[in-house]
Amino acid sequence: MMIPPNEVVLGSLLGSCSFHKNLELGECLIKELVQMYPDNTEYHVLLSNMYSLAGRNDKANSIRVVLRSRGVRKVPGISSIYVGGQIHCFSAGDKLHPQIQEIYMMLDEMIRKVRLAGYAPDTTCDYYGYDQEEKEQALFSHSEKLAVCFGLISTQAGMPLYILKNLRICQDCHSAMKVVSKVYNREIVIRDRNRFHRFKLGSCSCFDYW
Ligand SMILES: [Zn+2]
Ligand SMILES: [Zn+2]
Repeated sequence: MMIPPNEVVLGSLLGSCSFHKNLELGECLIKELVQMYPDNTEYHVLLSNMYSLAGRNDKANSIRVVLRSRGVRKVPGISSIYVGGQIHCFSAGDKLHPQIQEIYMMLDEMIRKVRLAGYAPDTTCDYYGYDQEEKEQALFSHSEKLAVCFGLISTQAGMPLYILKNLRICQDCHSAMKVVSKVYNREIVIRDRNRFHRFKLGSCSCFDYW
């Protein structure tokens, strides 16, 4: 590059390393990112997941130990959606929203429909000590999925949904959103920590690089 790459560029490349399981390049990137932004734990978590997937639990554990010893806690993911002149915020596994029962009913239906359309939950991510079903449940109640379900029940058919997420969207939510956009014929725009994702008719404007 003509100019030094910033956090967004390096973070996107690290995300792709995680997706394509390129551990070697990922290790180089994390060193740079940690020096530039020591407080952002997302990158540590990504790398730790990469180590776990590669069967390097020793290295994955050592990252977790470092994070814990520094007292660094993962920032909770929050997704917000603007509906009916109001901002509605959701955290993972949210129980606080006044329409939460309807939202979870919609979530059940949505997961059933997108599974039939080819979505497979990505349970390879970091959930230690969970069995398969618990992992899936934890994935399904990610904040952006709840925000989308709320959008689906509270806006007219065909209306686009705009969601803001404070962290990087996870691999599983990203693949789920692609299928949701097709099954429900909705354009879904998610601005995550790094960039805009515009999901439409089964694909995303980032072409799976983010
Ligand atoms: Zn997610
Ligand atoms: Zn995307």
